[in-house]
Amino acid sequence: MDITEVRIKLMDDPQDRLQAFCSVTFDKSFVIRDLKIIQGSKGSFVAMPSRKLTDRCPKCHNKNHLRAMFCNQCGVRLDDERAVKNVDGRAKLYADIAHPINSACRELIQQKVIENFKEELIRSENPGYHCSYDDYGEEEYAALKIHHDDEETSTNSNNSPEKTHRLDQAEEKSVPQNHSGNQPDSVRETASKQENSGSGDDFGSGLD
Ligand SMILES: [Zn+2]
Repeated sequence: MDITEVRIKLMDDPQDRLQAFCSVTFDKSFVIRDLKIIQGSKGSFVAMPSRKLTDRCPKCHNKNHLRAMFCNQCGVRLDDERAVKNVDGRAKLYADIAHPINSACRELIQQKVIENFKEELIRSENPGYHCSYDDYGEEEYAALKIHHDDEETSTNSNNSPEKTHRLDQAEEKSVPQNHSGNQPDSVRETASKQENSGSGDDFGSGLD
């Protein structure tokens, strides 16, 4: 299996640990979008596309993001220790949507992406630079964004601005690049109705 193309979208905030979004094409046949390049303590690393994990309110059974302090639906105070902890003791708030299942593949993706990222940084110095990562769904994002802002203020108002917060915001930025952002409204409504009706299927919770 070969990586035949990598497209990079550089972020322009040097304070942000999120350095870029990217897509990776395998064998000229299959694309995965929304990978992230993140500044780590030992250099940049690649994070797989992920979705926010949710759980159900004990009172009304509405789904809430694990970082929500209060239920979005009924406002009940939620247990802030309810997220499952990783081995390093940090709360597990996201789950990968697509990821390598062996270290050889992980290395291949990491190496190819970082190599392309460095080249993109050099290219971006040119005055005529144009980003190759297609930003389709940008207009729909604008509409979604308003909705999200309302939601976020009610959900996260009590959260302190910690390190992961910026990455969390980056997650919001990734909404338009999610292919679900291109679905017609009717489809999206159906999806969210199913979610609220308690189908038990966690997939699509990224649409919240
Ligand atoms: Zn509730």
